[in-house]
Amino acid sequence: MTCKHLDGLEDKIQTLNRDKENTVDALNSLKCKKCGAGAPDVWNCLDNSPYNTCPAMLCSEHLENHAKNRNHTLYFNISTLTTFCFQCKLSDVNCLFSYRMFDSIAESIGYHDPKKRNKRLTGLKNLGNTCYINTALQCIARMLPIQTYLRNDPFLKYNLNKSEEYTLIYQFREIIKKFWRGHILISPDRFVNQIYCLSPDYKPKTQQDAQEFIRLFLDDMDSYLQRKTGKRSIISESLKGTLRCEIKCHNCTTVHVKEEEFGEISLAVPETEEVSELAEKSESLLENEDKTWITKQNNSIFNKIKTILSLRPETIANLYDCLISFFQPQELNTEGNLFYCSACDSKVLSTQQYKIKAFPDILIINLKRFKYSYWGSKISTHVNTPLVLNLGQFSDCDNPTYYLSSIIQHSGLIFKGHYTAFCKDFEFDRWLEYNDKKVQECSEDKVRNAQAYVAIYTKFPVKRKKIIPKERPDFFLPKEWVYRYYSLSSPGPIYFSKFYCNHLFLSINTHEYDFLGISNEQWEELKLEWKYIGEPLRFKSPCNQCLENKEKFAARINFEKNLLERIKHVSKEYPRFFIAKTWMKKWESFLASDCNLNEYPKAPGHINNQVLANSDGDIREGLISEVDYIDINEELWKIIKQIYGCDIEIIKASNDIYSENVADFHLSELDEEIEEAIHKFTS
Ligand SMILES: [Zn+2]
Ligand SMILES: [Zn+2]
Ligand SMILES: [Zn+2]
Ligand SMILES: [Zn+2]
Ligand SMILES: [Zn+2]
Repeated sequence: MTCKHLDGLEDKIQTLNRDKENTVDALNSLKCKKCGAGAPDVWNCLDNSPYNTCPAMLCSEHLENHAKNRNHTLYFNISTLTTFCFQCKLSDVNCLFSYRMFDSIAESIGYHDPKKRNKRLTGLKNLGNTCYINTALQCIARMLPIQTYLRNDPFLKYNLNKSEEYTLIYQFREIIKKFWRGHILISPDRFVNQIYCLSPDYKPKTQQDAQEFIRLFLDDMDSYLQRKTGKRSIISESLKGTLRCEIKCHNCTTVHVKEEEFGEISLAVPETEEVSELAEKSESLLENEDKTWITKQNNSIFNKIKTILSLRPETIANLYDCLISFFQPQELNTEGNLFYCSACDSKVLSTQQYKIKAFPDILIINLKRFKYSYWGSKISTHVNTPLVLNLGQFSDCDNPTYYLSSIIQHSGLIFKGHYTAFCKDFEFDRWLEYNDKKVQECSEDKVRNAQAYVAIYTKFPVKRKKIIPKERPDFFLPKEWVYRYYSLSSPGPIYFSKFYCNHLFLSINTHEYDFLGISNEQWEELKLEWKYIGEPLRFKSPCNQCLENKEKFAARINFEKNLLERIKHVSKEYPRFFIAKTWMKKWESFLASDCNLNEYPKAPGHINNQVLANSDGDIREGLISEVDYIDINEELWKIIKQIYGCDIEIIKASNDIYSENVADFHLSELDEEIEEAIHKFTS
């Protein structure tokens, strides 16, 4: 049974979709007009009266009323590509439309491959001039090592919990998770609020510089991770390179060498006049495809018309022009930039030249488009960002090939303007254009035509052989290393040592890490190529000795905490025994320690009462109860003395430390059970 109401409606449905700017955007904007419910349960009314187009867009709950009141029977769901006839529902037919006519739409939203569509295309809501944040987030989220780390690293998994929600990295990780879960639209409001807390320069609704924001954000994550893990962070590992600066003194010919780490390279954009001077040299560096494109643009019909009209043709610069200017030798010969030569002990004329000493896996290139004069102006020379970039000629050490992976484009004026981003999806070999909530595939030409403000290049790690997991493993690899292996050009050594305790068994906190079980052969292969530190992991049961120690420690803390509680209770038995408050404080902080650590804090030494007495052994003057000392009864003193021992025993007739000494006092025997308990955990 089919629904006759659908006859002649094909055109109408297609128009409905064509009206929308693009279908991904359409999906995002789908909302029930009554209650705001979003896709997929949103239906367009397909009212077929010849004079009227019904604009109703409703969820299934609110569709019923509309259908009854207006007598409109047909509805179409863009997200599921389903039509539904209200009238025919009564005769129990749910009409599924022929998919054929929607193939093009389905293609553009990746409908046929939900994994592809969902995983890749997530838009970010603009919260009032936040396009600079949105573009940066999209680009950074696409940096493979950072994305992999944020999604998988065990350290973050176990430490970046709710208590850290007021950090940028926590909020960014939440966003990445949503990207991964395939949200179509995310509002990054929590992240953005954190930005506003970070620096007074960042205020709601104000446009900011994307280059500066990226630097601020990456630095913030970098220092957070460094502080928490005590190691060089993934941010530094994947984004930092080294520049070598050589300064040659013209006077004594000494070459002074400085090396500095860089997280990005900022290049001056040549003004139009300068472009042709650089062109010859830079064009020879371009890969064929990139070269063809530039030639084509320069010979384009528009440029020819401009030449005929004797207007200056627009010359296209390319990134090599900017790089050559940056890396070429520079004379330091003006008053302000004279170099101080230590050999000559004076300011001298000199030549300075930069070279790249160590290349980062991900290279961020900023183009200095804004001239900060009073009015502020923008250099709009088009700089082509080649899809393939070879930087060997700017280095003596290496000759890596980089691939363009993201561009941030700034259009418009300096203090206004709008940011959009282009990112390469290497997995599906396509370019994506991000414009806040709008995400769509775009052509390579569009990317080449983009006015780059930030260009991000990736030096791909060599396509590594897959590490195959084994069901009954012979060895275990820490997953944190496996991720590094896939996403960094140098993943570093495999650290096994940290998983062992002092007894050379598996440490009891190792369960917090994720491991990949592999075969003997796989390990043999890996160990030929990669350095490792410590004994390779073979087993997964934790050290018994450590488990025992942990229990013992927990029991001790428990016992002594009880003791402390009782001491705090006022008791009235005499004589009184005195303890210096300085020792009490040490003891209390020991009792507050975490029992789940791998290494336990050291217990305080014997009770140090010497601080309450002067050299003659008399009580010092001016001591105050509860500030300098406390006093307890015999029973508690026996226990605490048994555990810790003491230097001098102060026993007085009353709770006044200056009252009469009780000489020759004999402590009664300690209860046997208690003695045994103490013996257990102090041995
Ligand atoms: Zn029908
Ligand atoms: Zn509704
Ligand atoms: Zn209607
Ligand atoms: Zn000199
Ligand atoms: Zn152990």
